[in-house]
Amino acid sequence: MNTSDTQKQENIIISPQTISSSQTEQNALPQQKAFDSKSQQICPFCHTRTLQDYFFCQNCGSKLKQKPLSVSIGKQITVYLVSILLPPLGYIWGYKYLRQEGTIAKKIGIAAIILTTVSIILSLWATQSLVNSINQALNKQMAPYQNLGY
Ligand SMILES: [Zn+2]
Repeated sequence: MNTSDTQKQENIIISPQTISSSQTEQNALPQQKAFDSKSQQICPFCHTRTLQDYFFCQNCGSKLKQKPLSVSIGKQITVYLVSILLPPLGYIWGYKYLRQEGTIAKKIGIAAIILTTVSIILSLWATQSLVNSINQALNKQMAPYQNLGY
């Protein structure tokens, strides 16, 4: 009973050291390095190895990467509405989603950019036709005065 308790305590005390010793082992084995680099990342601030999944460095707490953007239906609808209604913002959102990992996020990014482009073309066309109709209306109103000039 007593011996098992002390063993448990030793394990708890040793645990931070085993993490650091495993890191030095990985440094000593260059063959495993290529494999490990896929699942691990190195903190650019303190050069500590952390898991690829981590968003913050476990040693210094620095932000390692952006949290992935949501790909929920509600978020997709928001992104598409922003793309249609506020065209320049749609490009920013599209770019952000294109930089994400995962095919769903990239598809959202492409869709946002396409919708933004369509929205810009339609708004330019609408503006052009509006300007044309205003010009035509002005020309009709100006026509009698132009005739007076002769
Ligand atoms: Zn760090």
